[in-house]
Amino acid sequence: MKILSTISVIFLIELIYLTTILSLPSNLDDLKNKCIEFTNPLNRYESKVVDCPTVESSLDKRASSNDMFAVNFHCGINDRTLCNRVENVFVKAGRYITATLNLKTVINVNAQFLDICRATGECDPGRIILGAAKPTRMIPNQDPDGKTRYYPQALYKQLNINKHPEFGSSDITATFNSKMDYWFEGDSSSMTSKKVDILYIVLHELIHGLGFTNSWSDYANIKALTPAVGITKDGTPPEFFEFVFDKHLVLLPSGRPLTTVTDELNQFKSNSASSPEEFFKSFAGSPQFPIAQDMYKNSTTHGSIGFLLTPDTPPNANTELTQDKINNDVVILETSFNPYDPGSSIGHVDLDTYLDSSDFLMTYTYPPGKSLDEMMSKAGSTDKTGPIGPKLRRLLGVIGYEVKDNYTPPVNNSSPFISFNFELSLLCILLTLINNFYF
Ligand SMILES: [Zn+2]
Repeated sequence: MKILSTISVIFLIELIYLTTILSLPSNLDDLKNKCIEFTNPLNRYESKVVDCPTVESSLDKRASSNDMFAVNFHCGINDRTLCNRVENVFVKAGRYITATLNLKTVINVNAQFLDICRATGECDPGRIILGAAKPTRMIPNQDPDGKTRYYPQALYKQLNINKHPEFGSSDITATFNSKMDYWFEGDSSSMTSKKVDILYIVLHELIHGLGFTNSWSDYANIKALTPAVGITKDGTPPEFFEFVFDKHLVLLPSGRPLTTVTDELNQFKSNSASSPEEFFKSFAGSPQFPIAQDMYKNSTTHGSIGFLLTPDTPPNANTELTQDKINNDVVILETSFNPYDPGSSIGHVDLDTYLDSSDFLMTYTYPPGKSLDEMMSKAGSTDKTGPIGPKLRRLLGVIGYEVKDNYTPPVNNSSPFISFNFELSLLCILLTLINNFYF
């Protein structure tokens, strides 16, 4: 790959953040019937609010805990052999997840494998997109603290709520770049710094789709960090709203929960805003704006934001978290980019802290020349936690997944448990996608 030889860093970029301002009703009763959908996996700016009326549960439960992923795989290239090999990677990635989590319902993944540059226009040679994933639908749920937060559908399904907002057709939407020199487990050729272990990429992206995703961003590009905002059409004051992941974020070392910052930001009342531009123009002149500016500073200062792994023992408001507490019970998030990088900041674990640890998987960048196996082996986690390290396991448990007590490495044997609906797309389908993006 010519492009790869010219770059030193390969980015994992996810389309997991909301860059549009959503038109959401902020009235709690209305929120129950409004879900967020990311409509186009190739377009990071496209999301919409959909009606999701309450329905009775008909969850797809299966007896076997090893049969919990259904992947609808669209291969957008004509190399059938490569398509088949990529299919098999989903089997392996699913095995690692089901070796870690007790999934209660089947998780449906819509995945496509195509030339992302050609399909999206994302062609920066210094910043290659390897993959992108997001929850297909975010579902409102009232938390015990009384706040309504948005849950990824895959996670919401684990809660076993009988009456729930209507589910979308899939839980996770993922895209992977075919214009890459991938290395596959079992390849006779050796791993080199120009190759990428696709299993590593698929697993990383699926974890985002399961719920490693946050609502905070510099939405108006004004060096002010806020959660996403819902703007009503019925005159109700707009409000900032959080995802479930955000509930557990804390400032470091103070331990202050970011959800209390959201509360402060929501003191801002803009009665007249009918558009995002109007809203942020008004917000920029408000007493709450410095709070968002301060949050921007935190999001661009290394080691300033973490995910607290002990939700039952909230930090003392008057005492800073000790270094021991941070080491043991906090996942330090990536806040070293300045300016803020919406594809990398906060939505990943801190590279400095975790790259050489068993929690390496969710750093923002791919370690050149390393396979997933090598990373696990180097960290000594091959048989202990596998690629989903000890803190990531706990994090998934905190947001609501049931984590297995013990980890048994999956065995590469026959009878793959993931069911596929394989479809080889033709060039015309790709062109249609391109048209959708630009028009
Ligand atoms: Zn990522």
